[in-house]
Amino acid sequence: MYCVYCNCLLTNDNTKSVEHIIPESLGNKEYILARGLICDKCNNYFAREIEKPFLEKDIIKLLRGYEILPNKRNKFQNVSIMICGENTLLEYDKKSNAFYLGLTSNGIQKFINHPPKSVFTLKIDITTLKQSYSVSRFLCKVFTEYFLNILNRKYKRKGCILRAINNDKQLRDIFDFVRFGSQKQFYEYEVLQDHNWLPFQRDSIIAKIGFIQRDADVSYFLLKWSCVEFRLFFKIENNPNPANT
Ligand SMILES: [Zn+2]
Repeated sequence: MYCVYCNCLLTNDNTKSVEHIIPESLGNKEYILARGLICDKCNNYFAREIEKPFLEKDIIKLLRGYEILPNKRNKFQNVSIMICGENTLLEYDKKSNAFYLGLTSNGIQKFINHPPKSVFTLKIDITTLKQSYSVSRFLCKVFTEYFLNILNRKYKRKGCILRAINNDKQLRDIFDFVRFGSQKQFYEYEVLQDHNWLPFQRDSIIAKIGFIQRDADVSYFLLKWSCVEFRLFFKIENNPNPANT
């Protein structure tokens, strides 16, 4: 069996790491790629070049803070809030399960002199997630790995998985885009925001992925995370599981 992204020969030595289809830092424990389908080098590359740029976007960091999600090193993202007209950090402490307000001395002075009537959380603005090369590549990474798991369940022999991908030019192009990038273009997607969502009020499911069939011709890959919904559009020939949401 060869790595479906870089075509290197897979052995016990180069398939040791666990690949999360959606990063752990986004709260995912459910979607994990089956072992032995991709090599460690590709896995590391995805973490460094695709997941990190996505996780470090300001809006994603803000939402990670609002969702109180730890990163891999079990550190929580501080949340900026507006208090007395100043940007102030709200720090979460796991041990005491409480938030601490990191007021500056200037802020404390203002706080004492003019006690605030209200405190504002920062507005959620998803504009920077639109029309972005790095977001598109991140979505394609999640899609290809999710798809790989489906192929893995469908075919008993691993060699058939690679053949199925290589025989479909569109699929092969997406896998190549994920692994090698592209100078010219990225795959189109949509971003929507759940307007009813409030910070620090999460239901138990944080991330959800699957295929959605909109009508006879158009189906898309859905990634729902926190209050954001991404829809990656393309036509999949012989979509293996279009009803699976
Ligand atoms: Zn590889």
